Amino acid sequence: MIVPESRPKWLAAAVPALLMLLLAPLALKRLGHLPQTPPVTQAAAMLPTPVWAPAAAGPATELPHINAARAMQYVREVVAFGPRPIGSEAHRKLEAYLLGHLKGATIEHDDFTAATPDGNFPIHNIIAKFSGTKAGAVVIATHYDTLMRVKDFVGANDGGSGTGLLLELANQLRGAKRSGYSAWLVWLDGEESVRQWSATDSLYGSRHLAEKWQKDGTINQVKAFLLADMIGDADLNIDRDQNSTAWLEDLVYEAAGKLGYQSHFFARSLPMEDDHLPFAKAGVAVADLIDFDYGYNNVFWHTTQDTLDKLSPKSLEITGDVLLETVRLLDQK
Ligand SMILES: [Zn+2]
Repeated sequence: MIVPESRPKWLAAAVPALLMLLLAPLALKRLGHLPQTPPVTQAAAMLPTPVWAPAAAGPATELPHINAARAMQYVREVVAFGPRPIGSEAHRKLEAYLLGHLKGATIEHDDFTAATPDGNFPIHNIIAKFSGTKAGAVVIATHYDTLMRVKDFVGANDGGSGTGLLLELANQLRGAKRSGYSAWLVWLDGEESVRQWSATDSLYGSRHLAEKWQKDGTINQVKAFLLADMIGDADLNIDRDQNSTAWLEDLVYEAAGKLGYQSHFFARSLPMEDDHLPFAKAGVAVADLIDFDYGYNNVFWHTTQDTLDKLSPKSLEITGDVLLETVRLLDQK
């Protein structure tokens, strides 16, 4: 499923930087902020950022900044429910916990029964909608179920990290109407396979929601689908996903660059199978933000080693800020 590929990261970083150097004097000239634009010399081109360049998005724009400690506290509380596989009591408690933290948002439910190799299970996707001024919506999704077949698996990173992070994103989106697309936060259920990962035994929630949105036309409102999965690893290396939409991945990288977080993004390129695939098949632009290098050689993944001590609030902050900045860049498109 995974084919690592090397990628000339310096090139990806150098091209936007050079473009900025070339374009910044033009922007300054138009705005008239400086009487003279200094010439772009070779020495200047070697500097990481030109000191005389304003923030590309203008002075009115503030970069997003989530409350990382609060996000981490949510992850702790989610993990404290214990293993949260579909159909379990802890899963039901987590559903109530999520809904309790989403008061004030417009909530939609996508509930159904999934036929799995181990029988029928209830699946509950939870959608929280925050309206914007622009027609269309940007989705930020994660999954909140945990792997069933590994005993005592608590999924601090795989299931927990995204679930807690999205609760903090809800805090950031709550209140004043967004000037941009509507933002829909989606806690997908039944991501994990029951027995063994296959096209039919996996992605139960996302396959159902993508189909439902295709049937009722909602899919046409979705401008982009951003997925956060396994993003709490203290050693955060978000992979570039070959199954995601290239321009949207580029936009995520641009957002990471604005925040100074490029070093945590896209050192490696892999094809990921995750909750974004059903939406990609439905024609939506998708980007999966996932760090599939959890411990050396991903050794903690799907094991009882996936525990809170491996996570860092900083990683939640990096991912959360980059997601919100990506949404802002999408608003401007
Ligand atoms: Zn998993």
